[in-house]
Amino acid sequence: MSVLIFIDQTEGHIKKLSYEALTYGADVAKQLGTTAEGLLLGTVSDDLSTLGKYGLSKVHHVANETLNQVDSQVYAKVIAEAAKSIGANVVVFTHNQTGKAVAPRVAARLKAGFVGGASALPLTSNGFVVRKNVFSGKAFSNVNITSEIKVISMNPNSYHTTEGEGVAEVVQLNIPIDVFKVKVTAVNKVKGEVPLTEAEIVVSGGRGLKGPENWSLVENLAHELHAALACSRPVADAHWRPHHEHVGQTGIQIAPNLYIAIGISGAIQHLAGVNRSKVIVVINKDPEAPFFKAADYGIVGDVFEIVPKLTEEVKKLKGSA
Ligand SMILES: Cc1cc2nc3c(=O)[nH]c(=O)nc-3n(C[C@H](O)[C@H](O)[C@H](O)COP(=O)(O)OP(=O)(O)OC[C@H]3O[C@@H](n4cnc5c(N)ncnc54)[C@H](O)[C@@H]3O)c2cc1C
Repeated sequence: MSVLIFIDQTEGHIKKLSYEALTYGADVAKQLGTTAEGLLLGTVSDDLSTLGKYGLSKVHHVANETLNQVDSQVYAKVIAEAAKSIGANVVVFTHNQTGKAVAPRVAARLKAGFVGGASALPLTSNGFVVRKNVFSGKAFSNVNITSEIKVISMNPNSYHTTEGEGVAEVVQLNIPIDVFKVKVTAVNKVKGEVPLTEAEIVVSGGRGLKGPENWSLVENLAHELHAALACSRPVADAHWRPHHEHVGQTGIQIAPNLYIAIGISGAIQHLAGVNRSKVIVVINKDPEAPFFKAADYGIVGDVFEIVPKLTEEVKKLKGSA
């Protein structure tokens, strides 16, 4: 019996979000009086034994280079096999793109109850009750998982990361990799940008920018802050910006430390993708814009005046640092 935490990696390096999942999984293990163990697929350059400081006793490693690219069917099979061989009774994922694609498949293979998007530690005094956001973050739902094995994917940025002391034992697992009918033949990554889902700061533009020709305003501020770019849906629909930048209910859901919304009204569907950000700054010329209700800081004014000034101030601050 143990809690198994899936460690997501990209290009040989553990994703930052995984450390949160490790701390979360280790705390679940503490609650259940059991051990926390990690599972990593593919080849990596990071030293896996150091993951002991997040509370792991062991890290299981399937070091097969065909696993360097995520293929949800292959991953699900390998993770489910690993969970069975380890005897895990809770399997934890991050609710990012990999987790969303893989965790439900793993749950199906393990005949396990599944909660996607957990926002807090489960309550284990009477059952195994997992809290998750529903109705675009307007309400919570508490789901009791009654199956013997439980699979959870936790919302990114909903838990802290704790580093302690300790060294994990690294165990090489040899799990046969099946060939499926659907195969990932190529992965094209956007180069030179801060990935939206991993970014600490996100600068986002809406229809208030009037057109794609004005996006240098957003880009310059993002560049100075080393931030990722995002946009509202109509902006992507109008092809002002690529669809991978669209955040919201029907786009990417993010939870950065700082979200700066420029000329975005703050419709409920937009908020659904960004309202877990730690600090929200809204710049809008309409003082009645709904986004101000969700904002920690608001600037009422014209984006064409405010944003260049803000960018200059950031530059000055960086210069004096
Ligand atoms: C089923 C469904 C799903 C949806 N999913 C999403 C989603 O995932 N993401 C999403 O974003 N939307 C989504 N939408 C659309 C959503 O309802 C809004 O229409 C959209 O978010 C509005 O985008 P916007 O704020 O950029 O544009 P607008 O609503 O046009 O707002 C522009 C804002 O800019 C301000 N402004 C204008 N000029 C200036 C200026 N010079 N200076 C400062 N401020 C200025 C205005 O005051 C206004 O508040 C969805 C809608 C539906 C029905």
